[in-house]
Amino acid sequence: MTCEDAHLNMHDYISGELDAEHYKHLLDHMDECPNCREFFRQTEHIQSTMRDFLQYDAPSELQTAVSNILANA
Ligand SMILES: [Zn+2]
Repeated sequence: MTCEDAHLNMHDYISGELDAEHYKHLLDHMDECPNCREFFRQTEHIQSTMRDFLQYDAPSELQTAVSNILANA
């Protein structure tokens, strides 16, 4: 798996669309790749931050901005 593939899989994982087999490949890749491990940690952080914002009715511009960050990562 390339880092690019790993990033794509992370997006699927965050949106709940990653199957178990790809998830395992993703974990294997992160075992060997500190960059992706760090990226995944940040992505999960952004995701949980976004969840918190949604609970407080964040302005839609902010939700869009966060989505753009995730889409372009
Ligand atoms: Zn990587």
